[in-house]
Amino acid sequence: MLSRVLQVSAKKQAGRFAKVGFVRFQSSLLKLNTSVENFPTNHLESKSEPYLTPSFFNNQLIKSEANTWYDIHDPATNQVIAKVPQSTAQELDDAVKAADEAFHTWKNYSIIRRQGIAFKFVELLKLNMDRLAAMIVLEQGKTFPDAKGDVLRGLQVAEQACNVTNDLQGISLEVAKDMETKMIREPLGVIGSICPFNFPAMVPLWALPLVLVTGNTTVIKPSERVPGASMIIAQLAAEAGVPPGVINIVHGKHDTVNKIIEDPRIKAITFVGGDKAGKYIHDKGSALGKRVQANLGAKNHLVVLPDANKNQFINAVVGAAFGAAGQRCMAISVLVTVGKETNEWVKEVAQDASRLNVGSGFDPNSDLGPLINPESLTRAKEIITDSVKQGAQLLLDGTDFTPANPKFSKGNFLGPTILTNTKPGIRAYDEEIFGPVLSVINVDTLDEAIELINKNKYGNGVSLFTSSGGAAQKFNKEINCGQVGINVPIPVPLPMFSFTGNKGSFLGDLNFYGKAGLTFLTQPKTITSLWKPENVEEILKPSTSMPTQH
Ligand code: NAD
Repeated sequence: MLSRVLQVSAKKQAGRFAKVGFVRFQSSLLKLNTSVENFPTNHLESKSEPYLTPSFFNNQLIKSEANTWYDIHDPATNQVIAKVPQSTAQELDDAVKAADEAFHTWKNYSIIRRQGIAFKFVELLKLNMDRLAAMIVLEQGKTFPDAKGDVLRGLQVAEQACNVTNDLQGISLEVAKDMETKMIREPLGVIGSICPFNFPAMVPLWALPLVLVTGNTTVIKPSERVPGASMIIAQLAAEAGVPPGVINIVHGKHDTVNKIIEDPRIKAITFVGGDKAGKYIHDKGSALGKRVQANLGAKNHLVVLPDANKNQFINAVVGAAFGAAGQRCMAISVLVTVGKETNEWVKEVAQDASRLNVGSGFDPNSDLGPLINPESLTRAKEIITDSVKQGAQLLLDGTDFTPANPKFSKGNFLGPTILTNTKPGIRAYDEEIFGPVLSVINVDTLDEAIELINKNKYGNGVSLFTSSGGAAQKFNKEINCGQVGINVPIPVPLPMFSFTGNKGSFLGDLNFYGKAGLTFLTQPKTITSLWKPENVEEILKPSTSMPTQH
């Protein structure tokens, strides 16, 4: 009897999802330009037609009816490889409507059923890792192994999300005779996600898996510069069993962001990107009563003490400053040498950095690829020139780097660059460059290093290299920065913890992923019940078989 009731309700649910399909996306369907077996392993031929990036509604890849399409360039060649639409007002509204309607059914899926879909999603992400990485190399420019790291760090959030059956457990207590209070956490509704260009897979996956397992639905706006990975991820989620309407992808710039901020059906916003957009989105979204978590810019310092293991330090700082062409929010952009001896080590850092290969992300010999666009390259060069005028010295100059292969002569390449003698007040220290540029500051004591870092407006990551437990302990206690590494250059915590940037690197109260992420995406409800034992009646016949429904 019980099982029949459940079967009927499952059928009703399926019927409700079918209705979500009636929102107006009857325009033409598109296909993804990659598959698990077939994806780019090199830059496209110059005569290739730009690919039209679809939108994703109702588990379908839709061709936008937009009048405005933005070019997507391969940063290694500056060739236009794809186009992305400015989603129309109608499309934006349809996406929010679909997410809002789907929420009412998706939230009622049992947690076991959502967990099962999450397991499958993880499996598909693993299977498609190379395909996702290839799309990232093509649109974003980073090297293929680094692009796989981008996918892996997102995949790890999806894996952790599968633990939702433990992580989302409520609490209950018998508070009086026959009276129990239980506290559970419920999903909020539609979550808007606005993403940056530098981690095309990881950042959408910082929120999406948790959005799904908690029973929320979503409207995602990938960076208009790198939408390809998000499209694949959405399709994989659908393949894993996420029903239509739960995930929607829209595109564009300000109009799309403003819709996500202003539409009352969107209850919370996750944002990762630069300071200007982040502050605007956080302040406007909060004023409209939404929850907002916003990860912003950074200036991450690495402090080296004379008792550090020199080789370990040099390898770490070279990788962390110049890897991904410095386009990581946790890249080391400032080296603080403590004492005279460690200042001498900077020459060896420069030697190693000068040996890094700059080139195409598809070339297995490349250590770093290009910057995202010509504007970023011009800005980085201007900051370097201005900093030298302000008193910094160019120990390693990557500004005149030209790739050996003429195919890449139009790419946005900047070689590893090291500026010594920098300090607050010099542009290279004051501004986030987001390029392979390391500013060096020499101080006399650890106290001076701590004071310098604590005064910096950002608080994303910091690192200390030392062999002294006492120095590490002092540093841990006195440093005001959200993510601290001891002999670890990029201390991004795995997703059983949260991404805990602070000061000017974060706006909001609850960080991405981990317990804070789950709390951000859910709200508590308490239920107090009184059931007296005399109410008990035997209404169901005992079943003799194991239950099979979710
Ligand atoms: P961005 O701020 O230019 O863009 C981020 C998103 O906001 C994009 O989707 C973009 O379309 C939108 N946007 C841009 N300008 C806007 C505006 N004026 N109003 C409304 N929306 C706007 O950032 P980006 O260049 O794509 O990414 C690089 C930045 O992201 C760096 O500052 C980096 O430090 C930061 N970042 C931070 C973290 C972190 O966890 N702290 C992680 C990755 C990147």
